[in-house]
Amino acid sequence: MVRNSIYKCNYCNCLLRLRYQVGYFNIPVSIYCPKCNCHISGTIVIDNKNTTISENIIGATETNNKDYNYVLELATEFLIDKYKQRDETTDVQMSMFVRRGFTTPSKNQRMQNLLYFVNQSDIYINKIENIYNLLSTNRVDLIRKYFLNTNENILVELNKHNNANNIINELDAMLATKHYVNSLLQPIMPEGVFNNMYQIMNEKTRRIVKKHVLSVKDYLNNLDNDYFKTYLFKMPSYIIDYIKCVDQLLPVYDNFDKFGNIDFTKQGVSTISIDDLAVLYKKGFELLCDSIDLLVGLYNIETNGTYNHFDTGIYDFNERLNGMGSKYNKYEYFTNNNSDLFDGIRGVLNNIIRNAEGHNSIFTDGLNQEVTFINKTKNGTKTYKTSFLEFGKMCVDLFTAILYIWEYYYQFTKFKSVLIDGVKLHYGK
Ligand SMILES: [Zn+2]
Repeated sequence: MVRNSIYKCNYCNCLLRLRYQVGYFNIPVSIYCPKCNCHISGTIVIDNKNTTISENIIGATETNNKDYNYVLELATEFLIDKYKQRDETTDVQMSMFVRRGFTTPSKNQRMQNLLYFVNQSDIYINKIENIYNLLSTNRVDLIRKYFLNTNENILVELNKHNNANNIINELDAMLATKHYVNSLLQPIMPEGVFNNMYQIMNEKTRRIVKKHVLSVKDYLNNLDNDYFKTYLFKMPSYIIDYIKCVDQLLPVYDNFDKFGNIDFTKQGVSTISIDDLAVLYKKGFELLCDSIDLLVGLYNIETNGTYNHFDTGIYDFNERLNGMGSKYNKYEYFTNNNSDLFDGIRGVLNNIIRNAEGHNSIFTDGLNQEVTFINKTKNGTKTYKTSFLEFGKMCVDLFTAILYIWEYYYQFTKFKSVLIDGVKLHYGK
C-alpha cells in the first residue's frame, strides 16, 4: 500500500507530497525542503500489530491543501527518485516498490539482520557501553560471569569456540570483549569486512611479527605503557555514535556493491541528515588520525626493516612524525604505498570535509540532494561537492577503515602483553 501525505514546510510554506510504501519497518525521515533547505525529520511509525500508522514529522506540518509543489518518496532502505516538481506525470507515478520488482527486505537476509539491528539499536548500545565499562575498570571477574551466565545467542556461539572459564586476566578479558563486540557489530559491517578483519588477525599481523620479530619488539618496547589502552577506549564512543546514525545509512548498505551503477543526479535517499553525518565523519577522521603512528611504524617495519626507517632514511620516530605537519599528511605517508596492510584504510579520508566546521561552511542543496564542503585556509578556499548518498558511503567506508585499524590495535596490544610484558594468554588460544 502506498500512502500519500501533504506537508507544508514550517519556514517557507512550500507544499510537499510525501509518498511511501507501508511495509514492515518504521521509516526514518530526514529530508531537506527543496525551496529553503530547512531540515525536516522524524519517523513514520508502522505498528503492524494494530495496523496503525503515525507520522511524527518535525519541521513541516500536515495539511489538507492538495495543491502541492513537489513530490518526494520516502523509503527506509530503498533508493528513491529525488524531488520532482509537480506536473502531469507526478500524479500517476509508479510505486517504488513496483519499480524494484516487489523485492522485500525479507528476501535479503543481510538487510533483514540490519533492520533488526536498527530496531534494537538501544539494546546493542547498552551492551557495548556496559562491557567496556567493566573492561575499563578491570572487572575481569564480572566479564567472565557475563560470558558464562547467559542466554544470549552470540555468547552461546562464542563459548562453543572459546571457553569463557579461560577469561582469567586483563588480556583475556580484552580479547573476549573484542570477539563479542565484533559479533554484535556484524550486521552493520558491509559484506566482506568481517573476513578482512579476520585476515588482519590471522594473516597480516602474524606475517609481520614472524618476519620481523626483533623489529616489532623494538617498536613495542618504545611505546608508552598506556599507548594502546588510550586508543582502545576511544573506540566505543565512536562506535556508539555510528550505531545511532545507522538508520540513515540503510540505503547505502542496500546498494553497497551497486554504487557504480547509480545515477546520482536522479536517485537519492530520504534518510540522511548531513549535520549528523558531518559530526560523525569528523569524529571518525580524528580517531583514524590518532591511530596513524602505529600504522606508520608497521609500514616502516614491513617495507624498510625497522620502525624508524622511513622511506627517506632513519630518523627519531616521533620527531619525524611531528615534522610531517598535519595529521592528514601523516595519513598520506603510509597510504601512498600499495602494501596490502592498508587495504580498506587507504583513500577513505577527505581533508576538506574534516575541515569544514560548523554550518557556515557546509552548504546543503535539498532539491538536488547535494552537499558542498567549503574549507577556507590562508592558502585559499577548497570546496568539495558530493551527493548525500555518496557522502553516506564515505561515512560507511570510514567506519570500516576504523574497524580494521581497531583490529591492528588489538593484535599488537596482545603481542606487546605476551612478547614484552610476559603476560600469559588463556582465552582464544
Ligand atoms: Zn521550506
